[in-house]
Amino acid sequence: MKRLRQRLGWKLFISYLIVILVGVVSLTVTAEIHTPTAIDRHTAQMVDMMGSNMGMMTDLSESFTRAVNEVLLVAASLAFVTAVLVSTFVTRRIVRPIQEMTVASRRIADGRYDERVRLIGEDELAELAQSFNQMAHTLAQTEERRRQLVGDVAHELRTPLSSIRSVMEGLQDNVLPADPTTFLDVQREVSRLQRIVHDLEELSRAEAGQITLQREVKRPAEFIQLAMDRLRPQYGDKEVALTLDLDRDLPLVLVDVARMTQVIINLLGNALQYTPTGGEVTINGWADAGKVMIAVRDTGIGLTAEHLAHIFERFYRVDKSRSRAGGGSGIGLTISKHLVEAHNGRITATSPGLNQGSTFTVTLPIAGKEF
Ligand code: ADP
Repeated sequence: MKRLRQRLGWKLFISYLIVILVGVVSLTVTAEIHTPTAIDRHTAQMVDMMGSNMGMMTDLSESFTRAVNEVLLVAASLAFVTAVLVSTFVTRRIVRPIQEMTVASRRIADGRYDERVRLIGEDELAELAQSFNQMAHTLAQTEERRRQLVGDVAHELRTPLSSIRSVMEGLQDNVLPADPTTFLDVQREVSRLQRIVHDLEELSRAEAGQITLQREVKRPAEFIQLAMDRLRPQYGDKEVALTLDLDRDLPLVLVDVARMTQVIINLLGNALQYTPTGGEVTINGWADAGKVMIAVRDTGIGLTAEHLAHIFERFYRVDKSRSRAGGGSGIGLTISKHLVEAHNGRITATSPGLNQGSTFTVTLPIAGKEF
């Protein structure tokens, strides 16, 4: 049994009792002080009218005092019963939901994130219950994402690891020749593992908001050119045309050049990966309403509305097998989004539909208008 001091129900009941007690005491004291004077005044008037009878007057005074005390006793008993009833009711209304929340929060602490409390009424307690349920919902989502992340990471690592393992077994059993092609296979898988680990590190830093930017005022053309130079050979190999079309006198932006180059490389890399030979990728740049827009348009496989809603989520790949074959892990766009947002910018994707190309647009504030 909990100590009384620790019980809200008892505290409420005792507070009612105190109010009643104070009421009764003050009424009694007032009655004690005022009753004799009042009776004396009235009896004096009666004596004036009816003549003196001292014995009757004393009797009258005593019975009046007794009557007042009786009335006070009855009233106090009634008030006591009312206090019991009201405190029981209020305890039910207030203490029960709080107890429910206590039990639910303990269950949540034990990892049962589906726990919810009932919403009764519309008062502050109902509001508290609603916030509680919302918190439980968010916790459940976070836990789900964490679980998914661990599963996805394990899955990502398994494929290159099992490739390496089978090559090693082939070498040991002399099924595979120990020649440069075999070693190149292993090296490719190792590079893929390194890329995944690197991306994961980047992702966790980005999600923790730990990316430090070394911002400088730059022309957008600068980092766009750097990214284009890096990918031009791959574009040449696949025979996809790469064109730059920036408005003249594009305003300056305050950016970390290395990070923005990384974003454009990611967009150009994706555009190349999802655009067949003979296709085109164009980078447009223009300014509007205090912002600079950089759009990477491709004539590739495009995206459906359903996929567009998810592509910035981590590990989301439209076609898992195809993207995996191309080395994609579904993290690139998530990192890009974090990087652009760290620059107070936005990144969006549009596509008219499958096989109709896609456009990824980065919006950055013009230097001096970041906030
Ligand atoms: P990945 O490393 O798998 O490319 P991203 O995060 O960069 O991961 O992209 C997520 C998914 O978005 C890709 O798997 C792909 O399905 C889709 N996607 C990205 N860019 C394009 C594009 N230009 N055209 C069509 N689909 C794209």
